[in-house]
Amino acid sequence: MTAKVIDGKEFAARVRAQVAEHVARLKSENGIVPGLAVVLVGEDPASQVYVSSKGKMTVEVGMNSYEHKLAADTSEKDLLALIDRLNKDPKVNGILVQLPLPGHLNSDLVINSIDPAKDVDGFHISNVGLLGTGQKSMVPCTPLGCLMMLRDHLGSLSGLNAVVVGRSNIVGKPMAQLLLGDSCTVTIAHSRTKDLPGVCRQADILVAAVGRPEMITGDYVKPGATVIDVGINRIERDGKAKLVGDVEYDSAAKVAGAITPVPGGVGPMTIACLLANTLTATCRAHNLPEPQGLTA
Ligand code: NDP
Repeated sequence: MTAKVIDGKEFAARVRAQVAEHVARLKSENGIVPGLAVVLVGEDPASQVYVSSKGKMTVEVGMNSYEHKLAADTSEKDLLALIDRLNKDPKVNGILVQLPLPGHLNSDLVINSIDPAKDVDGFHISNVGLLGTGQKSMVPCTPLGCLMMLRDHLGSLSGLNAVVVGRSNIVGKPMAQLLLGDSCTVTIAHSRTKDLPGVCRQADILVAAVGRPEMITGDYVKPGATVIDVGINRIERDGKAKLVGDVEYDSAAKVAGAITPVPGGVGPMTIACLLANTLTATCRAHNLPEPQGLTA
């Protein structure tokens, strides 16, 4: 069997086009332009790249982008004061603080100072609680992107066995909550899980969010399963820099029914979902109908 490739790049372009269409309608019918504020503290090169591509894509879908670049030694007081201003600014519908923050700043405190209604990353403790109790929330972008791809590929997920490898707050746990919300039977595996390959082989849906290059091989995959590879790992092979996932693509693709590649799978969906969340937050702020198919 050779797996169908789930093309995240193409899907993300479709999501962005849907967002752009909705934004254009908001502008013409309601005179509203959604705004996304991105806050970057320090000069981490990877974060700088993410922030500039987020800004570019925000503008491409017709939204306003507000970038706030702060020095690495910015005090917590100054950062919290900026977030307070953004919380109160009606032009700003979404606020994202790029992580990781420099060590002297308390990330939990900073994230929890964002107005939950503008928390487009879905990391605020209120949104975590709302998601966990099956209520309307802002959903973390990467798991939301995975859910959209799974629904698009499989239709109903009800009754399927899902295994999520990884229990982080930003990927593994919210991913498991979303799959549970779609009535999967969910197992969360982690570094202490016994017989990980055996657990994974039970999965109709296998989500790898481990942060270990190519750890999940074909031996972990049930024939015909749908494999979502969240991993982004920069490695060196044959003297060249290469981006690989947490799944060993070649061996897994021989067993799976469908698989996301790295690059070009989950990655592009994350920014598309950030834009979708900003649109959702804008609609909610104005008591307008939410876009269909762009939320959990
Ligand atoms: P974390 O490091 O926060 O979490 C990794 C999880 O994997 C932990 O729960 C850990 O278990 C588990 N784990 C580690 N080693 C093993 C092992 N040998 N066997 C089983 N489980 C293991 O990572 P993130 O969740 O933040 O990210 C996961 C991956 O997703 C990374 O590659 C990251 O780069 C990528 N990523 C991609 C995004 C995208 O846009 N595509 C966005 C965010 C992340 P334990 O808790 O027991 O330590």
